[in-house]
Amino acid sequence: AIAVLGSTNMDLVAYVARAPGRGETVTGREFRTVPGGKGANQAVAAARAGGEVVMIGAVGTDEYGSLLRANLEHAGVDTDLLHTVAGPSGTAHIVVDDEGSNAIVVVPGANATVTALGPGEHAAIAAAGLLLLQLELPPAVVREGARAARTRGVRTILTPSPVQPLPAGLLDAVDLLVPNEHEAAALSGYGDPHAAAEILLRQVPEVVITLGAKGCLYAARGGEAIVFPAPEVTAVDTTGAGDTFVGTLAVALAEGRAVPEALAWASSAAALCVQRPGASTSMPYRSEIDAA
Ligand code: ADP
Repeated sequence: AIAVLGSTNMDLVAYVARAPGRGETVTGREFRTVPGGKGANQAVAAARAGGEVVMIGAVGTDEYGSLLRANLEHAGVDTDLLHTVAGPSGTAHIVVDDEGSNAIVVVPGANATVTALGPGEHAAIAAAGLLLLQLELPPAVVREGARAARTRGVRTILTPSPVQPLPAGLLDAVDLLVPNEHEAAALSGYGDPHAAAEILLRQVPEVVITLGAKGCLYAARGGEAIVFPAPEVTAVDTTGAGDTFVGTLAVALAEGRAVPEALAWASSAAALCVQRPGASTSMPYRSEIDAA
């Protein structure tokens, strides 16, 4: 199984011609609530790609909590370790303007209560083939999860998003780091992905830097960096592309596929995602990825 230790949020999205300035009120055109959170999105992507997925995290006792849990269960994700805690669920308040630019406030809510792992969580990580991590839970628990996996010989994949200074010792327990170009630059101090990969490989054995429409760069310690181009497609909404990429990559790796084949499969999945609107709703199913 693939264990995901991560966030579950409800995205509250307002579409407006122009985002309001300070103290200003503008009238929006449309409003949508969409299940999100990087952890939950990666879990859905992996489940749709055919993975057996266990979600570790928390939702609140508000209406969003039950909707978020139901959304994961609908995708086939095991939510026994998705706790329901008193208070609000995590929310992301997103304003999208007519140019497609967005401004986002994330309120962690229940995600912030995930501060330590219990015996059930440790057992699930130990039993998993692979652990997916992001940075929308408290950093100390992300590190605890990574270390627990490392101790049991479980491969760990970290998406360093939202990018922030990492807690000491986290990267020591990460096998594969998957930043996008912007995150790779922030973590390494180098805008060029080849240079960034070289720096990041001092701390982790393998790196995949996603490069949007340009594909991704893979590098492992002691080897040459390789750029895998993305399929040429017409993108209508790139939301969720990175999470689709990581979720499907995890499924391929958990099945024992070699890295080049796994990256090609994940690139096909992400390319399908960008051709459709929405985040988790646009994530492809295994049959579609295989057909692509
Ligand atoms: P994020 O969404 O996290 O910022 P990227 O923009 O790098 O990450 O996208 C992640 C992956 O999604 C890319 O490596 C690529 O495989 C795929 N992707 C993103 N944008 C496109 C696009 N316009 N055409 C094809 N594939 C894309």
